[in-house]
Amino acid sequence: MTAPLTWYHATAEAPDRPRLIGDRSCDVCVIGGGLTGVSTALHCAERGLEVVLLEAETIGFGASGRNGGQVLQSLGADVSVVERQVGKDGTRAFFDMAREAVEDMKLRADRHAPDADLRFGYLHATLNDRQFEGMQGVCEAWHAWGYTGPKMVRGAEVRDWLGSDRYTGAMVDPESGQIHPLRYLLGLARGAEEAGALLFEHSPVREVDGTVVRTAAGAVTAKHVVYCGNAYLGRLHRKLRSKIMPVASFVAVTEPLSDALVAKLFPQDVAVADCNVALDYFRLTHDRRLLFGSGASYSAITPPGLAGTMRRKIGRVFPELANVRIDHQWGGLIGITINRIPDIGRLSETVFHAQGFSGQGVVLTGLAGKIIAEAITGDDSRLKLFEKVRHLPFPGGPLRTPALMAGMGWAKTRDWLGV
Ligand SMILES: Cc1cc2nc3c(=O)[nH]c(=O)nc-3n(C[C@H](O)[C@H](O)[C@H](O)COP(=O)(O)OP(=O)(O)OC[C@H]3O[C@@H](n4cnc5c(N)ncnc54)[C@H](O)[C@@H]3O)c2cc1C
Repeated sequence: MTAPLTWYHATAEAPDRPRLIGDRSCDVCVIGGGLTGVSTALHCAERGLEVVLLEAETIGFGASGRNGGQVLQSLGADVSVVERQVGKDGTRAFFDMAREAVEDMKLRADRHAPDADLRFGYLHATLNDRQFEGMQGVCEAWHAWGYTGPKMVRGAEVRDWLGSDRYTGAMVDPESGQIHPLRYLLGLARGAEEAGALLFEHSPVREVDGTVVRTAAGAVTAKHVVYCGNAYLGRLHRKLRSKIMPVASFVAVTEPLSDALVAKLFPQDVAVADCNVALDYFRLTHDRRLLFGSGASYSAITPPGLAGTMRRKIGRVFPELANVRIDHQWGGLIGITINRIPDIGRLSETVFHAQGFSGQGVVLTGLAGKIIAEAITGDDSRLKLFEKVRHLPFPGGPLRTPALMAGMGWAKTRDWLGV
């Protein structure tokens, strides 16, 4: 038996799904079985469309089955960046959509994945004055937009929320939280199948010709095609690939913690992320393990000695866990866009795409699937808003990775210096 890909895979039940063999036709062919692809399939099938989804490996093989499980009520980018792209009215609409996406997730989790352990309560933790001021600005902007839930805490107040001395302050957000993303995804996949969608695994798409989608053993002739391969899409579509940069991040899951440690380290059951560029993000799983993610690397190679590195990072936050056992560890690819706003749109009248959720996709992918389904069934008003956002290709062509690694090196140094 092969080892599970992640702790998520070790704690979720996934049925085997067939590979595509032979030719089929349908209304919508979805490429990719992560949260974007499965949400698109679900929303389209619920609207009465015939859907075929093709996944290269298994449902949840990509970022959707590897992420930190942080449920973020967020636009993906700073409000000021969004405002520059889509104006004040557009920003209002984006802001409302980000909140709608969290509400949708609550309904969907309830309906399709009650075992996904969706919980709310979140700390955006700051490591220095610059970060605190920045977060305070975000908090004020959110209040000004009518979302008055979040509040700032400073100094010793942080200890009411988290048993760590590492942070100078935090924004407490009651509408962000955490989830077991793979159980959630598998629940959505079941929902899509119940609504009539056909999901195929081990069926990598080799070629797309108009709206004819080919794998090694079959072909799908569709009225519409939706690219949902995100950072795992590879070379299937060069233009899409140029708009996102695959960035690796790594996750470790510890042995189960004692009741006493849980009470001390997590006096409130919150998920946490700091404000560094190569940020730490962590939370407590339903079986009382610490799930700790960290880093951002433009190299997709898993670093040697990952467990030791993660243990050191965990020890910086919680010295009590400096020698904790790491039971699971893995890496995954995040698709980021230059402006950090998701890239959702059309390549032609009949070919759609959604990618580049920039580390915020656990929630926003559901919105993407809904908006694409709306557009396919005749209402493209919300898709048009996303299409207003200019997504420039990453500069540098073949040299873009070394150039970005150098840029990332500087950002990490700044985080380390705390300036
Ligand atoms: C380590 C890590 C931590 C993260 N933490 C968080 C977090 O805490 N909160 C948050 O909001 N976001 C987080 N993210 C980001 C989030 O996971 C993603 O934004 C989201 O899962 C993207 O979903 P997706 O469906 O677009 O892409 P993916 O889940 O990557 O799915 C793409 C799928 O397409 C398939 N595919 C690719 N090419 C083909 C092809 N040619 N044919 C068929 N199938 C193909 C792949 O196999 C893959 O399964 C994290 C990501 C990583 C990697």
